[in-house]
Amino acid sequence: MQKSRNEYFGFRLLRFRLSFLAAVLIILLSSGTVPAQEWQSEYAYGPFEIYLNVDINLVRKTLEQIADLDRELSARFSLPPCQEKIKLYIFADVKTYTAYIQKEYPGAPMRRALFAMEKDKPGQIFTFLHEEFAVDLRHEGTHALLHSKIGRLPIWIDEGLAEYFEAPKEQRVYKEPYFSQIKRNVSYNLLAPVPDLKKLENIKKMGDFLEIHYRNSWSWMNFMINDPSRQKILANYLILCKNANEREKEQGTFPSFTNMINQMKPKYKSEYKTYWKELKKPTNP
Ligand SMILES: [Zn+2]
Repeated sequence: MQKSRNEYFGFRLLRFRLSFLAAVLIILLSSGTVPAQEWQSEYAYGPFEIYLNVDINLVRKTLEQIADLDRELSARFSLPPCQEKIKLYIFADVKTYTAYIQKEYPGAPMRRALFAMEKDKPGQIFTFLHEEFAVDLRHEGTHALLHSKIGRLPIWIDEGLAEYFEAPKEQRVYKEPYFSQIKRNVSYNLLAPVPDLKKLENIKKMGDFLEIHYRNSWSWMNFMINDPSRQKILANYLILCKNANEREKEQGTFPSFTNMINQMKPKYKSEYKTYWKELKKPTNP
């Protein structure tokens, strides 16, 4: 029997923003398909199946970027291709988007973008054209791709990677305001200059994942990705998560990243400090 599409077993606020409209992830129990909705055009970009009610020329560049992201994530972390197409729905405006979401997902907070993750299926992304469209789509696209390639991940890894890859390529490493805050903490030895990995790992609920955790997770992912041997450790960790026990992952229990990096790089804390001390933002990039 098909379950009601309104049966949520939870939703996860993916991004804490001061703005009322931020992106959100919802997890659905149901496996219903999106009901009748007129779409002007349909496209395929990499693993994304895209339904549009806007001019393709306004979004083409971002669609190319998320298709590139699919190839990049696979190459960086030796990940398999996506198993199924990820559906992406781009509404004409906030009004039609809001009306649709309220009807189909009553109870979901109204945000700029929704990532719906159905059990055993790749995600569906819903959004509309807005000022932060490209950033939100790269962020949600990263979640959808990681989910499709790996499955569930610890919140801090999932969000850290999405925060990293949401920025335009040339700005990923230097994303503000995180970059300046982390540099300042490390340079002046302020406020726990090396963010506590165990603490991040122990966060099991999105409601407990605050802005500072997004920033700290981003800083760790930045550190891990921008060095071949560290990137390999992260890649191995992602595969460990992929192969971990599904029931344990559902309950938020994952292999310990802290234990892994402690074994592979016992001096990782001082390496982290050195990395951030030496990192310089290019002038006029
Ligand atoms: Zn997110």
